[in-house]
Amino acid sequence: MKLDTICVQGTYKPKNGEPRVIPIVQSTTFKYDSSAEMGDLFDLKKSGYFYSRLQNPTCDNVASKIAALEGGVAGMLTSSGQAANFYAVFNIAQAGDHIVSSSAIYGGTFNLFNVTMRKLGIDFTFVSPTATEEELQAAIKPNTKAIFGETISNPSLDILDIETFAKVAHKNGIPLIVDNTFATPINCRVFDFGVDIVTHSTTKYMEGHASTIGGAIVDSGNFDWTQNDKYPGLTTPDDSYHGVVYTDTFGKGAYITKATVQLMRDLGSVQSPNEAFLLNVGLESLHLRIQRHCENAKKVAEYLENHPKIEWVKCSMLPSDSQYALAQKYMPNGTCGVVSFGVKGGRNAATTFMDSLELAAVVTHVADARTCCLHPASTTHRQLTDEQLAECGVTPDLVRFSCGIEAAEDIIADIEQALNKI
Ligand SMILES: *Cc1c(COP(=O)(O)O)cnc(C)c1O
Repeated sequence: MKLDTICVQGTYKPKNGEPRVIPIVQSTTFKYDSSAEMGDLFDLKKSGYFYSRLQNPTCDNVASKIAALEGGVAGMLTSSGQAANFYAVFNIAQAGDHIVSSSAIYGGTFNLFNVTMRKLGIDFTFVSPTATEEELQAAIKPNTKAIFGETISNPSLDILDIETFAKVAHKNGIPLIVDNTFATPINCRVFDFGVDIVTHSTTKYMEGHASTIGGAIVDSGNFDWTQNDKYPGLTTPDDSYHGVVYTDTFGKGAYITKATVQLMRDLGSVQSPNEAFLLNVGLESLHLRIQRHCENAKKVAEYLENHPKIEWVKCSMLPSDSQYALAQKYMPNGTCGVVSFGVKGGRNAATTFMDSLELAAVVTHVADARTCCLHPASTTHRQLTDEQLAECGVTPDLVRFSCGIEAAEDIIADIEQALNKI
């Protein structure tokens, strides 16, 4: 099936007389006739539902649609994108291990890695999203367990050189994990370029309407965890499950099974069936929305590129953009709806512009149906000095503008009247 069809009908196939739409199974628990049967479920000898912290039919249906959209073998939902990235890495790394990550990643993920996961004893080395093979290889250590990056980084909009990252990862017997939130499976087929595990903040385009927080992880099934002894958590007995060996018992489902029955069991960052239902409603129009988000972003970027009050524009769908070729290679149908630009006159001009917008709302969100924007220097990054801002690629004049799916003419008219106020 084409992606468009998977978005709408996914993997859920109701049988005779069953609900046409994925039903919300609002139950924490599931009934069995005997305790022996329940015992087999607890021992992972049989598969079935027993407690919604581990698995729930609504969430599983939506996870399997997302797995199908990415072209993977198994998927799971988490309570947020933060939880998805934490689980994706923590599933294969522990105290004493090391991860190489692109430095162009979401601020929340950067804090998770650089502060919180360091406290758990996991070390990180940050590299450029366009690092060469040699630069990446130099960052790899004997205890490196994965390479991590974002296909299009939030907010700096850098495109990851996926094939180079995958090549170095595989040469070293480790997987490449990418966060594909901004590109979505509609625009970037990450597994075709060698990515092994993909994560999402479904809060953004996937749900698409700024109504629910959520995350997802999908395994391509392509990485062989048994090729070396780097992943004992998957290839040696798990004492918390009477010695089950995930790769022996679950084959290509090993990674997602472990993340579900061990990490979700112990950490519990579960998505609720209600949220999964809303996420699925969003997914049903993802293919249409993404197309419009990109069309609008391109029109806005083209308008801004020629505007005398605009210092610079970053949108890799513009042929003049320094990452246009990379974007064409990995996302030939478009990148995403987010454009960033600098307003001439720096911080003050940027704030005047933002305050004058009428259609575009100033919110701490991005990638939803309604056009919104953010001035990082005076909000999310306001504690930083101008020098610190420069280090993380956020200039004082930077406006992160997330084009919604309204009419491009109206979005541009709003930008125009706001620029006129400067
Ligand atoms: C928002 C975001 C996250 C975090 O997701 P939440 O759902 O807010 O926890 C992670 N990665 C990227 C690229 C994001 O944009």
